[in-house]
Amino acid sequence: MTDREFHKVGFIGLGVMGVPMAANLIRSGYALTVYDLDPDRAAPLLELGAVWADDAASVARVSEAVITMVPDSPDLLGAAQGPSGLLAGSHEGMTWVDMSTISPVTARDVAALAGERGVAALDAPVSGGQKGAIEGTLSIMVGGPSAVFERCLPLLGCMGKTIVHIGEEPGSGQVTKACNQMVVGITIGAVAEALVAGAKAGVDPAKIREALLGGFAQSRILEIHGQRMLDHEFDPGFRTRLHVKDLAIATSMARAYGASTPLSALTLELMNALSAADEGDSDHSALLRVYERLADVTIGSLA
Ligand code: NAD
Repeated sequence: MTDREFHKVGFIGLGVMGVPMAANLIRSGYALTVYDLDPDRAAPLLELGAVWADDAASVARVSEAVITMVPDSPDLLGAAQGPSGLLAGSHEGMTWVDMSTISPVTARDVAALAGERGVAALDAPVSGGQKGAIEGTLSIMVGGPSAVFERCLPLLGCMGKTIVHIGEEPGSGQVTKACNQMVVGITIGAVAEALVAGAKAGVDPAKIREALLGGFAQSRILEIHGQRMLDHEFDPGFRTRLHVKDLAIATSMARAYGASTPLSALTLELMNALSAADEGDSDHSALLRVYERLADVTIGSLA
């Protein structure tokens, strides 16, 4: 463990992603102190030897580095601020790695707040889902100073396989993650739109997918989510409501910095329609269902 900068690590936010990520850190030999708004979430980690703290400030007080993995920007601000927040318990020289997917604007704000307290901050959102979290193969997009990134590499290497330092500027990781979610969301919409239109025109959508996979329209989304659409297999996966959140982040980022994102805005509204139909907990490939309703067809039954 000589190449490691930290031994005592705090972990805040023990959900679908946080629990397996924290478990991988414990298995790699880190001493973990954990906290979640819902104490029951910590149970599998306490069994592995993690120690519970009563609030985020108490986590920070005993940790050399703290990782946060909460749903959205307001949750992160809730975990960070106030008398029981992690900043209140932080100390000079502590490192804070936020791995949640949040707004780049908020990421820049919290990096500044951290800096005022002598805390080094990175934004390090991930892609790869629960499977990647369990297997320790996440793709991690990191924004913040190179020196801090280098110090955190052994820690991040326990949770991810592809770890890219995007830039020195705080929020660079979150900007990249927003771009990722734009491409993924828009492509899901494109695949759903094509399969439904083709099916309505009388062609087997399974044959359309098969043919398109061999040409320029090929993509991982056509391959994996296209098959999910044919099978009507919408267990998450990645929940639609999280993608709504991520596209809202992407479009407001674009507004804040002066870019226009019409396709993301449209996809956001289509995913929003799915959430409104009480399907926000379905996998985001269930966007197909919105197109099916618009065309009054069910392609699963045609395949
Ligand atoms: P989740 O809802 O399963 O877990 C989030 C946890 O954070 C919950 O246990 C909640 O109680 C806790 N929490 C919320 N506010 C808190 C606070 N102020 N203090 C302490 N704990 C708090 O969410 P998840 O699926 O683990 O996702 C976490 C983040 O990772 C999100 O930003 C999500 O967009 C991102 N992400 C998720 C996936 C995925 O496949 N689920 C993939 C990539 C990225």
